[in-house]
Amino acid sequence: MILMNDFTAEPPELRESMLNAARCVLESGNYILGEKVLAFEREWTSVCGVPHGVGVGSGTDAIEISLRALDIGPGDEVVTSAMTAFATVLGILRAGASPVLADIDPETALLSPASVERCLSKKTKAVVLVHLYGQVRNMDAWIALCERHRVGLIEDCAQAHAASWKGRAAGSFGLAGAFSFYPTKNLGAAGDAGMVVTRDSTLARRAGRLRDYGQTVRFQHDEPGLNSRLDEIQAAMLLERLKWLTVFTKRRRHIGDTYRQRLKNEKVQLLAEPEQPEAHVNHLFVVTSRQRDALQRHLEEQGVQALVHYPFPIHHQKASRNLARDPRGLQNSEHHASQCLSLPCHPQMNDDAVVKVIEAVNGFR
Ligand SMILES: *Cc1c(COP(=O)(O)O)cnc(C)c1O
Repeated sequence: MILMNDFTAEPPELRESMLNAARCVLESGNYILGEKVLAFEREWTSVCGVPHGVGVGSGTDAIEISLRALDIGPGDEVVTSAMTAFATVLGILRAGASPVLADIDPETALLSPASVERCLSKKTKAVVLVHLYGQVRNMDAWIALCERHRVGLIEDCAQAHAASWKGRAAGSFGLAGAFSFYPTKNLGAAGDAGMVVTRDSTLARRAGRLRDYGQTVRFQHDEPGLNSRLDEIQAAMLLERLKWLTVFTKRRRHIGDTYRQRLKNEKVQLLAEPEQPEAHVNHLFVVTSRQRDALQRHLEEQGVQALVHYPFPIHHQKASRNLARDPRGLQNSEHHASQCLSLPCHPQMNDDAVVKVIEAVNGFR
């Protein structure tokens, strides 16, 4: 079976270095907010090209903490996509703000600027822009839109590690970038982890206190924060895995490019090409089909695992079905959720596996 992810197939050197790194942390006896977290914050912010990074417990927390650090909360509206991981919206809800759902562009599945403009109100404080599937697009326009309407731009970078657009990295465009290092992400820990990256030292200081019970110095609590600290073992895992990110990203791009060239089936549609090669890190390779469920079953029979990201738009979830939204509706999100299918596209896939996926898709009738 060709799997969506296969950690056990990773290079033995990487597995070995992770074991050694875990051993070092255990031997140091230092588990929380020590030198590994500092080192990883330094290395990851250098990849992102921003001065500050605050390691936190998850990508969801990174979104909540980014918003709270900007004083966005109860009474404030935050516009985001109806076609994203539930975690994006959960982070906004946890901050106490009201999410407003905008629709996507069908060619990319990314947030539609026109729909976002219809969602803006006097209460709008920020747009959470999701670089879905690893695609960074149209950033000049997003920056201009947010400046024109005086709302903050926050990037949900959970799927876009080291993607760059005109030489700038994901996470460096907005007031803050929220990263997840959940295991299946392009850079993943061996557990939960996340980071807030920012150019703004005030925001970084506030995020640093929010992740640590709201304390400024030990036992002095200036606000009720969270307990959401990136821990030493996960930071040590991430430092080892970061050494492979360039190689792994290159492999994902190669697989994505091969799919784009060679998938040919009139029943299966591809999303738009990346604007620039570097602006897509192929976290997920998503196709659409009117016969999506039959295609998924066919692939399964051919030994190819394919998954749906995501089967329901946010407004079809019980937990979020009453959220405010684009007055014209969210048809593109609904349509995409009913037709999208993610093909395996991970760095451990060899060329034979890539060919097998292509043949299985092209053979669907
Ligand atoms: C994974 C993901 C998150 C949440 O990350 P966690 O670390 O699981 O909390 C947020 N947004 C998007 C788009 C994601 O893919």
